[in-house]
Amino acid sequence: MTSDPSSAPWRATVLTLFPEMFPGPLGISLAGKALASGLWVLEARDIRASATDKHRSVDDTPAGGGPGMVLRADVLAAAIDSVEASEGRPKLVMSPRGRPLTQARVAELAAGPGPLIVCGRFEGIDQRVIDARGLEEVSIGDYVLSGGEIGAMTLIDACVRLLPGVMGKLASGTDESFSDGLLEYPQYTRPQTFEGRQIPDVLISGDHAKVAKWRLAEAEALTQERRPDLWAARPKAPESGRKRKPPKITTGE
Ligand code: SAH
Repeated sequence: MTSDPSSAPWRATVLTLFPEMFPGPLGISLAGKALASGLWVLEARDIRASATDKHRSVDDTPAGGGPGMVLRADVLAAAIDSVEASEGRPKLVMSPRGRPLTQARVAELAAGPGPLIVCGRFEGIDQRVIDARGLEEVSIGDYVLSGGEIGAMTLIDACVRLLPGVMGKLASGTDESFSDGLLEYPQYTRPQTFEGRQIPDVLISGDHAKVAKWRLAEAEALTQERRPDLWAARPKAPESGRKRKPPKITTGE
């Protein structure tokens, strides 16, 4: 991860028909504060600005027939090419046909200069611009959204919280679901009793080694039960388990 203070901040460039959707939720809380303080840069560009005909059309009917409209390759290519100094930046297109986004890919994207992200709409985009510009298709899950913007926001949010300085001193980025192939253990905070339910004794024991052991066991059990796919794919780490520093949790009054 680059921490050279002289290097340009991480940048997300979004190509969209609806730039007014940004920053939207990315302007709030963790990501929003980091945006305001210049830890990262968000650029939402209107694809329509690259339309050339007098109606500023960005889409047309699908070749071969069928319902809906398809985003034009020429307009999208011009929009992509108009982004200055984009060499070396990952060029993505949000797509339900893409490779499902993972925390590992998020970490890679967060460690780089920041991506260019094309947001589709309607029936999708002309295949030729995907091929001609070498766009990487990224899916955020096996369901269909009406446009790529919410997917782009999802990807950007996941990256931004990993940027140096964004989460402050919290170790969370390396100590949570997926970071080591496991889902996270259950979390608790005060009050110590909620509707008759107690915080597990081990967590208020003050024994950090026992806490770490309990958390690892919970994480493993949860992962096996809920995500056998993750469990099977889990890197077989040395016996030591997760190297985690138990966060300071104060419970009780
Ligand atoms: N006809 C297409 C769906 C188009 S949905 C198909 O069946 O594959 C319109 C746009 O929404 C897409 O071009 C894409 O940019 C975005 N989108 C929809 N679902 C998505 C998902 N699961 N992940 C990422 N982007 C998605």
